[in-house]
Amino acid sequence: MVKVIIVGSQKDKWNIGGKLKAIRAIARILDKYNPKQVLVGSGECPNGGIDKWVERLALGKGFTFIGYPPEVNAWNDKWIPYQDFIKENPHKVTTLHNWKCIKCGMKRSGSFERNQLICPKCGIPMYIRARGYKYRNTLMAKEGEELYSIDPKGVWSGGRWTIRHAKKLGKIVHQIEIDQ
Ligand SMILES: [Zn+2]
Repeated sequence: MVKVIIVGSQKDKWNIGGKLKAIRAIARILDKYNPKQVLVGSGECPNGGIDKWVERLALGKGFTFIGYPPEVNAWNDKWIPYQDFIKENPHKVTTLHNWKCIKCGMKRSGSFERNQLICPKCGIPMYIRARGYKYRNTLMAKEGEELYSIDPKGVWSGGRWTIRHAKKLGKIVHQIEIDQ
């Protein structure tokens, strides 16, 4: 299956007219593809906007949707205590990687197991490397065969960053500018 990624500006960058145009643009893109041959992915941005609209429309048109949510609301990855991570990412608990004790520096990686929650040496909670926007954008650029970013004209977004990165990787990319 070919993976098509559609990303772009978050909700607060759009006015009502721009939002309608953006949703029409998403629909036009999706109508080029066959739900039996194409997977649709987006960034599940916690601030809504294009990512949310893509998810809703793709599911409505019968596509399988793949979300790439950031694990932490930050551009770079961040070490956070495992309890905080699990609160923010309840669906991720079986696939955690990159553990560290911030006291003794002991590192481990691998799947989540109950006995990994506490550092055996120090007896304090382990920290987890939560992936930020940069990591997830890079991942979408890597995994998508064809990528779109939909943005108001002149507005910078993580979507534009993703598209530029994907272009460097030789992917087919489309920057859609919306007049609003
Ligand atoms: Zn330790």
